[in-house]
Amino acid sequence: MVKQKTAVIIGVSSQDGSYLAELLLEKGYLVVGTIRRSTSMIHENIEHLKGKITLEAADLIDQESLNRVMIKYQPDEVYNIAAQSVPGDAWSHPFYTGEVTALGPVRVFEAVRHFCPKARVYQATSREILGGVKGVERANESTLLFANNPYGIAKAYAHMMVSCYRESYGMYVCGGILFNHESPRRSLHFVTRKISMGVACIKLGIKSPPVNELGEALVDTSGQIHLGDLNARRDWGYAKDYVEAMWLMLQREKPKDYVIGTDTSYSIKDACKAAFDHVGLNWKEHVISNEKLLRPTEITDMRGDYSLAKKELGWEPKVFMKELMETMVDADLDWLKSHSVK
Ligand code: NDP
Repeated sequence: MVKQKTAVIIGVSSQDGSYLAELLLEKGYLVVGTIRRSTSMIHENIEHLKGKITLEAADLIDQESLNRVMIKYQPDEVYNIAAQSVPGDAWSHPFYTGEVTALGPVRVFEAVRHFCPKARVYQATSREILGGVKGVERANESTLLFANNPYGIAKAYAHMMVSCYRESYGMYVCGGILFNHESPRRSLHFVTRKISMGVACIKLGIKSPPVNELGEALVDTSGQIHLGDLNARRDWGYAKDYVEAMWLMLQREKPKDYVIGTDTSYSIKDACKAAFDHVGLNWKEHVISNEKLLRPTEITDMRGDYSLAKKELGWEPKVFMKELMETMVDADLDWLKSHSVK
């Protein structure tokens, strides 16, 4: 009989962690998910998984907590999904971002190296490691790193440690260089979810919308959603597609880094249009660029060239921006209705 595999997901309450847990359960894994110690018992993304996965408390700034999980479960696979993941917050919290997003993964690698060295490790790298690269339309695994914000720089450090641990210790560690990926489980800190939730609030005439990172209503009293640079462009894919790529990376004989994207690029305006069109509203009447929400440095426009992942992992994206925005708007309409938000 084949032995059941054990996977540890560091940061299971995240968008990606929750979809990954579902995928690994479907594949028959014993899934151990870590969450940060908190007085709140509610983790909306994984409420439906409680009882199906094992939860442990661990923090990327607490080496001992990570060691304990590796010692106790001796996992076959470890997915480090956790991070201070909000690029916008990295300017106001550069030290914390470095501590969690740059050094946190190294703590995971150390825990694995000392206590379960045969485990295969996935590190959630980001396309933000290429944030300032100019003159490259399609990024691949050979594109030179040039991060231009504290989040991207922290991710770049962790990503370089991936190959360092691979080469120095012969460990099985992969970095997934993932372009933006979204879903109804995306946090409200991120632009696609601000748009989808904002559209749903406007459509339903909600008087008390959720607040944004400035502590201001996502939709103001004149029915406007406040966003940053509307001309900024992103390669947006669907998180559920992307967690499949994470798993596939760890099934290869040899560890390697892969770019995961959709090879498309759309502006924030395009995403607004798709979301508002879906409910029969004109985005131009409801969206303004608020300079308080502009990033000090914007990342350059780049598409994720996933040719290597297609060739070696058999992975391809299935969902693209328009369908994604429509799905997110529908989910937020349902969420507001089911939570009786007025
Ligand atoms: P989320 O923003 O949804 O979740 C981040 C997770 O990290 C949460 O579970 C959070 O826990 C956890 N976390 C934060 N700080 C700590 C800490 N100190 N110790 C332990 N856990 C911590 O992330 P996504 O699902 O969007 O992204 C997953 C990963 O992929 C992240 O590393 C992100 O940086 C990276 N990434 C994401 C992309 C995207 O477009 N989504 C693109 C490229 C990379 P809590 O719930 O307690 O806050």
